[in-house]
Amino acid sequence: MSRADTERITSDIDRDWHSRPLEDVYAELETSEEGLTAAQASERLEREGPNEIEAKAGTSPLRILVEQYSSALIWVLIAAAIVMAAVGHTIDAAVIAGIVVLITLFGFVQDYRAEQSIRALQAMATTYALVRRDGEKREVDATKLVPGDVIFVESGDIVPADARLVEESNLSVDEAALTGESVGVSKEVGRVDEETSLAERENTIYKDTVVQRGSGVAVVVETGPASEIGQIATALEEAEERDTPFQSEMDRLGKIIAGVVIVAVAVIAIAELVVGETEPLQVFLTAVGIAVSAVPEGLPAVVTLSLALGARRMAEQNALVRRLPIVEALGSVDVICTDKTGTLTEEEMTVQRAAANREVYELTGTGYDTDGEFRYDGEPVDGQRIAEVLRCGMLCNNVDLGTRERDAAGDGTGAVAATGAEEGERTYLGDPTEIALFVAAQKAGFDHEDLAAEYPRLGEVEFTSARKRMTTVHETPDGGPVAYTKGAPETVLERCDRELVDGELVELTDERRDEIEARNEDFAEDALRVMGFAFRPDVPDDQTERPDETVERRMVFLGLQGMLDPPRPEVTDALAGCLDAGIDVVMITGDNAVTARAVGEEIGLRSTTVISGPELEEMSDDRLAEVVEDVDIFARTSPEHKTRILQTLQAKEHTVAMTGDGVNDAPAVKNADVGVAMGIRGTDVTEQASDIVLLDDNFATIRDAVRGGRRIFDNVRKFVNYLLSGNGGEVTMVFTGSMLGFGLVITPIQILFINVVTDGIPALSMGVDPPAKDIMDRDPRPPEEGVITDRIVTSVVGIAAFMTICLLPLFTLNFYGELVPGYDVLGAIVGWSPGYEPSRELAQTMVFTGFVVFEIVRIQAIRYRYGLGIFTNRWLVIAVVVAVTLQLLVLYTSTGQLLFDVEPLAVVHWIQIAVAAGVFALLMAGFVKVQDRYFDRY
Ligand code: ADP
Ligand code: MG
Repeated sequence: MSRADTERITSDIDRDWHSRPLEDVYAELETSEEGLTAAQASERLEREGPNEIEAKAGTSPLRILVEQYSSALIWVLIAAAIVMAAVGHTIDAAVIAGIVVLITLFGFVQDYRAEQSIRALQAMATTYALVRRDGEKREVDATKLVPGDVIFVESGDIVPADARLVEESNLSVDEAALTGESVGVSKEVGRVDEETSLAERENTIYKDTVVQRGSGVAVVVETGPASEIGQIATALEEAEERDTPFQSEMDRLGKIIAGVVIVAVAVIAIAELVVGETEPLQVFLTAVGIAVSAVPEGLPAVVTLSLALGARRMAEQNALVRRLPIVEALGSVDVICTDKTGTLTEEEMTVQRAAANREVYELTGTGYDTDGEFRYDGEPVDGQRIAEVLRCGMLCNNVDLGTRERDAAGDGTGAVAATGAEEGERTYLGDPTEIALFVAAQKAGFDHEDLAAEYPRLGEVEFTSARKRMTTVHETPDGGPVAYTKGAPETVLERCDRELVDGELVELTDERRDEIEARNEDFAEDALRVMGFAFRPDVPDDQTERPDETVERRMVFLGLQGMLDPPRPEVTDALAGCLDAGIDVVMITGDNAVTARAVGEEIGLRSTTVISGPELEEMSDDRLAEVVEDVDIFARTSPEHKTRILQTLQAKEHTVAMTGDGVNDAPAVKNADVGVAMGIRGTDVTEQASDIVLLDDNFATIRDAVRGGRRIFDNVRKFVNYLLSGNGGEVTMVFTGSMLGFGLVITPIQILFINVVTDGIPALSMGVDPPAKDIMDRDPRPPEEGVITDRIVTSVVGIAAFMTICLLPLFTLNFYGELVPGYDVLGAIVGWSPGYEPSRELAQTMVFTGFVVFEIVRIQAIRYRYGLGIFTNRWLVIAVVVAVTLQLLVLYTSTGQLLFDVEPLAVVHWIQIAVAAGVFALLMAGFVKVQDRYFDRY
């Protein structure tokens, strides 16, 4: 955005939107209550810029590069290079400098890629706004809103832009984002004084505040950086991303390693200077050698990268990770609490049965298709025979026809599939339960526009999951206003004292109530979601425009409609998979107990014992704690119940993933160990409270996410083990050699080459290892278990010791020509070959090459636990081939020999290395068996 634009938007003249007459606002913005046309909107978008507060800048490439130089190790190396140059070892200095460049380049590329994928993930978390364009309702990407747009908001929405209210019903907004005060602020259409403070401008709603209750229509006055929040936010620094638990564990590890290095270096320096006749430069070199051999240079970057890449892969499978640290918790989840409607079941509901006039009707047709007919006793009949109950379903209904551009999955599938509509096609916008009722009425010939014109809506008492019903008040063509109510049958029935039978109002006897409840149960047993309908003909005058719950009284019962919401086909498998993985699945639904049990049986829940919301309320905390692990269905719950169930499970040391969609689910989602929000059906608030968003709302995606989390964790553990054991081996080798008086058994430059190149590349490729075969057959990882387990510690120590045991003889044999100095045994025979002369260079080359060849054994030893053969990861194969090729280039090119101070090896040397590698492999195999006896598998 240019400077001039910024000035225009933020200039003070435009800042009195709240105090002007609405017509003025419309005129100034060249709009009306009909909103803008698509053409106007795109032209304004061009002019005003996107409705976002400064596209998250992220870390600049330069900054990422500079950050690479923040590690102490890099400075140790730079110092070493300078010392080398000063004493005339120009080649060594140049190689060290080259390796410094390599390390920073590696680090840079990995951090940069990680940053890119994190940013890509953030970009996928789009918020949508409902807006009137070209005279119809449309769902558009909220960043595309412009001043003059007419928007619709309802509870659970995050207000997408600053907007002046045009209409509202019971609207209350939490403006904590703006004012810091988390209380509901009631909003009202009208004008306020110009001096009114921001917090008191009741006629304006502000970007990024949260609609708590009610709904409203408003005209957008400011967007993006020009909005009130935009003006604050641009002044504030983005909060620092917290380190993931992995990263903090790695930090601790770094400190331990630093301690080891300091002690080892001190011991060697003293020993060499006091006892040995080594020159100071050699001591310095050894110290540098120890330092570089102990530090896993590549580790931090590999961890970040593998988390980020893992998260990206999960996003491809429709699980959008909002907070990276959650990947670790995912592997520990042992209970998943999931919604039923829309997550376990398909979203597309179809009314299949209706009861009215004391008779039961069948409806044919599938999905939201309006083709279908009514049957009574198997015979086709006119749907108008039960016109009253259908009309109630269409009027007491917030569904609209419109278009949506939403494509949550970002790939052309995803969200739109839920209503079977292509992107941009006219479709139903709204709650699937209500769409089903809407379609049922259409099947009987009702037209929404005609009906809405005939019965204009005056007011509404909102649906909430706690109330489980909603009411609308309408004018009627003949006679006074009427209230229509729909909701859970029992909550509707308790408000009725009469029923409508063949056009007559008759008293609702206890006997009839029982009959209706039995009918409800009948429907529910067939897994139908049942709704009850009622109306009230004599609405008091003060209850028309702003009705409250008191209008739902002395009502006339109209009937029932039962809709089928079939389980998603993939859910049965996913559920069985979770149970195998030691994860219990608990269904928490607002639906009726009978329906919930029928669905639970169909998909194979472990137990179909049901606790209902009312029962839950009666239950003491102790009693709930006793039974909670045995109950897999909670029905007729309110959102607060979710929090109670969550807390009870957490108190029993469970790691709980909890799904949620509605505005009131946000607390439970936030407090869950893994909070899961619904990308399609969910409200903005729940999404913000969540750790993971399911882009397809599908339960199976949770299972995939758990698998993804376990896989990432495994891989991190593998390469941590791999890198640490490599470093352990090097440090032990150098330290032992030095203590035994052999001097440097491998040069610092060779160690650096191993750590950065020949070890670094396979480690990276282990980050994309496929999942272990049994990844979903083992129990969840205990939450307190970090990456580094006792088993890994023993692995590092064991591998280090075995490598030293196998490599030291290679050194002495080629240094002294004897296996053990002073004892001329086999050495002469084994080491004999034409042109073979023992020397330090040769001995160091043997150790250097030995380390590289041993890598292959180490990789197999580490991956063996996971049932992965070497060819299961082609990147790993390539990495090993590359590492070995590079080693050969070092050995057999004159440049390589010059830079790394190596001797070209002859066949006999390779035989020695092969024998040593064989012994190492045998030792490792035995060691793994011993470990298996004392430790868990990983
Ligand atoms: P869930 O999403 O778990 O099925 P909800 O809280 O959405 O539970 O719904 C609980 C009950 O409220 C439903 O079983 C139904 O009887 C009733 N209900 C659901 N949606 C509506 C609605 N739009 N209007 C009126 N009643 C509804
Ligand atoms: Mg629901």
